[in-house]
Amino acid sequence: MNNPISNRQSTNLHSADAVICGAGIAGVAAAHWLTVAHGIKRVVLVDDRAPLTLTSDKSTEAYRNWWLDPDGAMMALMNRSIDLLEAVARRTNNRIRLNRRGYLYATADPDRAAQFRRQMAQAAKLGAGEMRFHTGAPADPPYRPSPRHGFKNAPDGADLITDTTLIRKHYPFLSEKTVAVLHARRCGWFSGYQLGMTLLEEARAYGAELVSGRVTGVRLEKNRVCGVTVATAGGTETIATETFVNAAGPFLKDVGRLVSVDLPVFSELHLKVSIKDRLGIIPRDAPLTIWTDPQRLPFSAEEREFLAADAESRWMLAEFPGTLHFRPEGEGDSPVVLMLFPYHTEPVAEIFPLPDDPDYPEVVLRGMVTMVPAMAAYLQRLPKPYVDGGYYTKTKENRPLVGALPPDGAFVIGALSGFGLMASLAAGELLAAHVCGSQLPEYAAAFFPNRYDDPDYRQFLQSLTDDNQL
Ligand SMILES: Cc1cc2nc3c(=O)[nH]c(=O)nc-3n(C[C@H](O)[C@H](O)[C@H](O)COP(=O)(O)OP(=O)(O)OC[C@H]3O[C@@H](n4cnc5c(N)ncnc54)[C@H](O)[C@@H]3O)c2cc1C
Repeated sequence: MNNPISNRQSTNLHSADAVICGAGIAGVAAAHWLTVAHGIKRVVLVDDRAPLTLTSDKSTEAYRNWWLDPDGAMMALMNRSIDLLEAVARRTNNRIRLNRRGYLYATADPDRAAQFRRQMAQAAKLGAGEMRFHTGAPADPPYRPSPRHGFKNAPDGADLITDTTLIRKHYPFLSEKTVAVLHARRCGWFSGYQLGMTLLEEARAYGAELVSGRVTGVRLEKNRVCGVTVATAGGTETIATETFVNAAGPFLKDVGRLVSVDLPVFSELHLKVSIKDRLGIIPRDAPLTIWTDPQRLPFSAEEREFLAADAESRWMLAEFPGTLHFRPEGEGDSPVVLMLFPYHTEPVAEIFPLPDDPDYPEVVLRGMVTMVPAMAAYLQRLPKPYVDGGYYTKTKENRPLVGALPPDGAFVIGALSGFGLMASLAAGELLAAHVCGSQLPEYAAAFFPNRYDDPDYRQFLQSLTDDNQL
């Protein structure tokens, strides 16, 4: 293939054509594209953890082509990534269990319903597909709920339902106060772990190696990468290479410092709760459902008084953001429901194991009652929650960093925030195009690590809102 490094010969076991720091979904996708698509043989993935086990297996595993940034770069990246996800599903007999249930954004606020309509006009312009409206008028198109499994022949675009009879018919579990739902269709979920393992197996079959160790240094010669130092159980060694890829997830900034670059990222802690919905309140074929209205948690007058009296618990009476979401998890008769309520989004240090948040399951469950009132049945006896999660490592405008860094031969793929699984295939493809000097897609510039140096980009940042960011 046409790339500058594919013809290099490795001289011994301690050299490589490229060394990737991190075997999360970003590193694995990068290794996949470098080996399988570009024919680069000696790609070494270095990680001191088992592949995919830090953040990438803690995800909700959802995907969406619902990105409203006015330049369309995120929409283009995600549409490309979803095309590639569907291609993996097709060639593996859907080993990754890709579905297209959609994202169902719900509201009890008529003003937000009007906002949904404006967002649909924007999404259509950016390439999300056809928009359909269900108002209860005889001329409305029929509303097709999403299939439970698979993705073929499912609609794309979005449906806005403001006909409350239709909402109750298809989504009877939602609060009766719901006045509109926006069903974005080229969205759903898949097994992120299966995707990662598929990509890793294929990369290894094409020559990629996994090395258990920690990257502790990057050697430079005349401002060019010439080696990567790795601490392994057997000691420290340096792998001679001219290409280094930082795919260190939450440690992106630390690893950036190894090449003297201060990457513009920070991290937020995001937790998710799983419970067994033993009363069967959430239908197993539900879409990923989001309550988009800010809310105050439902408490009795007595509970309110009690919480208000204690400075430590008073925060529970404050307004919470419109970010609560859930989806059913598992095949067959699995009763598991995943729920996320990102309400702590201040920047934090990346600490592992994650800090405890003992109030989180109850806050999430109470928030759920606002969206799905029948969940109140669990308030007396909370089902045993399982909490896990990780960090959204992100840039200020929540777009990834993919491309070259100042020392020649250094690259980054990261800041994948809450969309790293869904973006992994297109981001890996883009990273490999940078490394190999191939033609870049039109959206590449929106993800350049040095984009903030461009005055036009800085101006563009002023126009961004955080509509529909999860
Ligand atoms: C609660 C939650 C829900 C999410 N939901 C979704 C979702 O629905 N859809 C979606 O697309 N995304 C979702 N995400 C985001 C997604 O999980 C991340 O964007 C993605 O996993 C990031 O992948 P990564 O490879 O960059 O990082 P990681 O998976 O963290 O991998 C980084 C790897 O680098 C290694 N590493 C770091 N430093 C070094 C070093 N010096 N030497 C060697 N190895 C090193 C680490 O050990 C780690 O294995 C969610 C995330 C969270 C936390």
